[in-house]
Amino acid sequence: MAILEANNIVKVYGGYSGEGSTTALDGVSLSVKEGEFVAIMGPSGSGKTTLLNILSGIDQPTSGDVSIASQEISEMSGNELALFRRRQLGFVFQEFNLLDSLTVKENIMLPMVLEKKPATDMETKVQELAQLFEIQATLEKYPYNISGGQQQRTSVSRALVNDPAIKFADEPTGNLDSKASAIIMECFEKIVAELNTTVLLVTHDVFAASYCQKVVFIKDGKIHSSIVKKGNRKEF
Ligand code: ADP
Ligand code: ADP
Repeated sequence: MAILEANNIVKVYGGYSGEGSTTALDGVSLSVKEGEFVAIMGPSGSGKTTLLNILSGIDQPTSGDVSIASQEISEMSGNELALFRRRQLGFVFQEFNLLDSLTVKENIMLPMVLEKKPATDMETKVQELAQLFEIQATLEKYPYNISGGQQQRTSVSRALVNDPAIKFADEPTGNLDSKASAIIMECFEKIVAELNTTVLLVTHDVFAASYCQKVVFIKDGKIHSSIVKKGNRKEF
């Protein structure tokens, strides 16, 4: 079943046409299945960030439509969209955006606190994710007292705590060395395999894309081609 469906997305910045306008996306259609791990790749300026922002409801397309979990996001009001994004979408930022005044556990719980989830549910969920990512020993610590890899895993846990329908990441390995890149990609691989999470990321890092099941190439605002992996990571 498709969890995300985008049809004929066009995005023109700076007016509909003519001087000074840029066509960032020129008719992009994309379908992502539940439990799929997809990378969107392309050179700088090809439209990756614009596409991610539109798919995740941060930005509006000039034309075309996007549905996630069978809900048409372009038809939602501002409030509906804000609520939908909070409940159904998870984001991993390039900077981990952890709050230094909160413990690791409180950071992970934050999206559940905002949703006023029962305390017992929060505790169960945090323990489950901490076990999955092997960060149990850091739960009562503060972000500045844990390693970079632990911070990454905390950030991924927080993005998962509300069981989002789909998880988005913009250049998740952008600022990272190869060891840290492997840690974050293995986190994604794990949540896809063990929690059947759907992950869509944008990257120009070939190493990051090699973890994904499907790679969609975008060039000049159009889908150029895509490849689907057969078996394990090395087998395209
Ligand atoms: P990528 O993420 O692949 O580098 P972007 O989606 O950021 O590509 O950009 C695609 C094109 O749209 C580029 O030509 C870029 O300069 C242009 N662009 C991106 N954001 C804006 C904006 N807010 N206003 C005007 N042009 C933009
Ligand atoms: P990244 O590709 O690393 O995600 P950005 O999305 O910030 O970086 O920018 C991508 C491209 O879009 C850059 O070339 C940038 O100059 C251009 N861009 C971003 N915002 C604007 C804007 N408001 N007006 C014009 N161009 C923009």
